Amino acid sequence: RAKARGKACYEIFNTDMHVQIVERLQLENDLRRAIERQEFQVYYQPIVSLKTGSITGFEALVRWLHPEQGIVFPQEFMPIAQETGLIIPIDEWVLREACRQTKQWQEEFLPESTNLDEQPLGISINLCSLRFSQQKLLEEINQVLQETGLDAKSLKLEITESVIMDNGENATTMLKQLRNLGIELAIDDFGTGYSSLGRLHHFPINGLKIDQSFVSGRGAEEGNLHIVETIVTLSRKLGVDVTAEGVETPEQLQILRDLKCEYGQGYFFSKPLDSKAAKALIITNPQW
Ligand code: C2E
Ligand code: MG
Ligand code: MG
Ligand code: MG
Repeated sequence: RAKARGKACYEIFNTDMHVQIVERLQLENDLRRAIERQEFQVYYQPIVSLKTGSITGFEALVRWLHPEQGIVFPQEFMPIAQETGLIIPIDEWVLREACRQTKQWQEEFLPESTNLDEQPLGISINLCSLRFSQQKLLEEINQVLQETGLDAKSLKLEITESVIMDNGENATTMLKQLRNLGIELAIDDFGTGYSSLGRLHHFPINGLKIDQSFVSGRGAEEGNLHIVETIVTLSRKLGVDVTAEGVETPEQLQILRDLKCEYGQGYFFSKPLDSKAAKALIITNPQW
């Protein structure tokens, strides 16, 4: 009996593996075709100043508009895109498209007020480990800024702690070179990685983004509240700004305001929107 069951298990295992391999190859093929046919779209999620309640910029989040499956989210294709290196052409396109779009919005919606400290709309873009380790990234960013006419100050790159830590000593050099371009840098998903706090103040960064797991859902519970408070305090010590991800309720917003967290992002303000809907949101000029 054991032998029979063993054989059955073996066959099921084999079939499962076969299905997995076929699905993987299918996804990889679809992804290659998607790049050729430009099936990607940039979605934009507003980042809100908690002091003024207005939109200061957007985070660019890629979506794949699959011809049969509809919208495919990054979590479904990022792992294979990273393994195969297909992430590189995808991210190059996202950078160029988001910078182009942001420059266009800046020109369309020049602040009418003469308020001197009013910054033009900014754009935040996620950077994967593969690109962070490539020297040619610097040249590419320069070229995109020139082509699109976007001011370097309007561009912020989001890099996770693990991307920085994976790149060892080279990371600090790369961060400095990126900062020398005049762009800004933020550490994404802060609190979930394994940053050495000792190295943190050597990194030439401009901001920390508190991971949504400490903010959304049960995030407001006491333990997480202390983590958020600690990260806000840490950012002040480091002289960098702080953004809370995953703001979903007015209660969470109030807590963040009480803690003097500078920026917020999350479904309470808006989900990521396609460019048309994002533009409509800019026009309504919401004040939270
Ligand atoms: P991330 O950079 O931390 O982006 C924030 C994610 O949280 C986004 O998921 C966003 O839709 C989601 N989110 C926003 N507000 C809320 C909220 O209130 N509650 C909850 N539960 N979630 C919220 P998305 O768009 O699915 O992206 C997932 C991740 O994929 C991103 O995490 C980022 O690491 C990666 N990613 C997205 N776009 C790109 C890209 O163009 N290039 C690269 N390399 N990575 C990307
Ligand atoms: Mg991000
Ligand atoms: Mg994040
Ligand atoms: Mg994340």
